[in-house]
Amino acid sequence: MPNQPISGNDLPRFAGPGTFMRLPAAASAEGLDVAVVGVPMDHGTSWRSGTRFGPQQIRAQSAMIRPYAVQTGAAPFDALQVADIGDVAINTFDLADTIRIITEAYGTILTHGAIPATLGGDHTLTLPILRAVAARHGPVALVHVDAHADVNDVMFGVREAHGTVFRRAHEEGLIVPDKVWQVGLRGTGYTAEDFDEPRDWGFHLVTAPEIWHQSLAPLAARIRADLAGHKVYVSYDIDSLDPAFAPGTGTPEIGGLTTPQAMELIRGLRGLDIVGVDMVEVSPPYDPSGNTALVAANLMFEMLCILPGVPYR
Ligand code: MN
Ligand code: MN
Repeated sequence: MPNQPISGNDLPRFAGPGTFMRLPAAASAEGLDVAVVGVPMDHGTSWRSGTRFGPQQIRAQSAMIRPYAVQTGAAPFDALQVADIGDVAINTFDLADTIRIITEAYGTILTHGAIPATLGGDHTLTLPILRAVAARHGPVALVHVDAHADVNDVMFGVREAHGTVFRRAHEEGLIVPDKVWQVGLRGTGYTAEDFDEPRDWGFHLVTAPEIWHQSLAPLAARIRADLAGHKVYVSYDIDSLDPAFAPGTGTPEIGGLTTPQAMELIRGLRGLDIVGVDMVEVSPPYDPSGNTALVAANLMFEMLCILPGVPYR
């Protein structure tokens, strides 16, 4: 049997290691199918900070998650070797150096053949991860769930920050433009045409009002059909959810996804050849109840449940 989370019947859930789901800690991704890894950074944010505490808080809130998804039958720890390899040693004084460090760290994780499951951290971290992923797998398809398209050109003259990730990824050829799905977009824009340019690149943009009050299972089925046969990266910004469900984030926007919609969307992607997932923008200082990190931890578990090789009972 591969690594198992410590059972809440063997050791109280408020005790034990601070790893994700109280899985074993590992020094590296060697021998793992899935490496849970934290990227504790917030110096790529433009409004409220605090995501440097995201990995720690998501891990803390993950302690209650049990290993079997009884609603779907998924049993990720029956077949996959999963461990928490800790946090990337980012440079908290230097964003550019941090981006370099993340690219190198993920290059190593991917060399071991592990799927990285990342706890963020601000959304900047997805750019260096995509650089490492594309270096190994070539350009990938992308499911990007977010209130924001994150396709700005520059922010304060800086080209690599949490709001420019997917423009850079497009320019650098890290993603296949017509295999990019951005879901949950909303809020106000810098111009009235903010969403036109990514659509011209070939991105599929699904705004939040288009999916208000409805199941996301049909949308997930469309995405799954479109991305079949491609390597897929899933980037999940917690601000895609409505602030009622996930207030602890840096740039909240009203009118977002519900928690059940988020679960339907992730569950509907089962069967895709997923090569990496991330959960970003959880900001514990704005999350006094811990609910945002609780949602994030459970959505990360949902993403583990749809990785290739996970058996369903
Ligand atoms: Mn984002
Ligand atoms: Mn966002």
